[in-house]
Amino acid sequence: MGAKIISGKELSASLRAQIAEETAKLPVRPGLGVVLVGDNPASVSYVTAKEKACRETGMYSREIRLPAETTKEALLGTIRELNSDEAIHGILVQLPLPKHIPEKEVIEAISPDKDVDGFTAINVGRMLIGEKCFLPCTPHGILKLIEFAGMDLSGKHAVVIGRSNIVGKPVAVLLARKETNATVTLCHTGTNDLKSYTRQADVVVVAAGRPDTLTGDMIKEGAVVIDVGVNRIPDETRPSGFRLVGDADFESCAQKASAITPVPGGVGPMTITMLLWNTLESAKRHAAR
Ligand code: NAD
Repeated sequence: MGAKIISGKELSASLRAQIAEETAKLPVRPGLGVVLVGDNPASVSYVTAKEKACRETGMYSREIRLPAETTKEALLGTIRELNSDEAIHGILVQLPLPKHIPEKEVIEAISPDKDVDGFTAINVGRMLIGEKCFLPCTPHGILKLIEFAGMDLSGKHAVVIGRSNIVGKPVAVLLARKETNATVTLCHTGTNDLKSYTRQADVVVVAAGRPDTLTGDMIKEGAVVIDVGVNRIPDETRPSGFRLVGDADFESCAQKASAITPVPGGVGPMTITMLLWNTLESAKRHAAR
């Protein structure tokens, strides 16, 4: 294996220490309101991890757990309360929501000033035109990881696999911004001959939600691979009966890449870290008002 491992765990630890230091100095305690509807096990574990991270950096975290049968009106009422609560600087509604609640309507009810996930149309629009906004956490974390790996993307070719609103599309937008200056190709399920694009890439960001979407034969020697995928695959040797893998085949990609993010321990920890970053940023803006 020739590739350097880009550790999201290591970068997260140093950024979280910096966030904790800044939090301690602020005249207001940054507060995050976390809303969970139902008891989807993956959502429960994400929410628990986010709250733990909040507490560890000295932030205030308020968890609001609502039953799966909560009505849309009741959920919108909870969001309105959080919007006007002075102790809350960031609001996070854990997705997915139960099927009877339209996610779009719920996200748009969050005040853009407290939208620390960066999911509202106002924040997405601001990001697109390069205005001050909350950047979406996973894409922002990916940019930080590339910077941490010491890679200057100016004039380089970045290939993004996946066009979701929360990862693929915003990653492509951020990589193409003048400050990053990459030339970006966005690939998706409609792309013919994916490897003809990935083989030209200096950096590949893979966010497809499928193991082995990217394999070593699909990248050029020395490319950087950022693996966003989190997939559970059965593994009888583990007490849990499964293990986590990314969207890239780690072994074959690491043979050819110059640097690669592991799963777990790569992009995952950065997502929560950038959520804390945005919550701190929101509290700073609140304190300055
Ligand atoms: P999604 O299912 O919404 O989107 C996947 C995208 O990949 C689609 O746009 C599709 O067009 C594309 N795609 C799928 N298979 C493809 C193929 N074979 N070739 C080309 N394109 C293909 O998923 P998402 O929400 O963007 O998440 C992607 C992955 O990242 C998932 O595994 C998810 O669990 C993970 N994820 C991780 C984090 C984190 O913090 N680590 C955060 C968000 C998502």
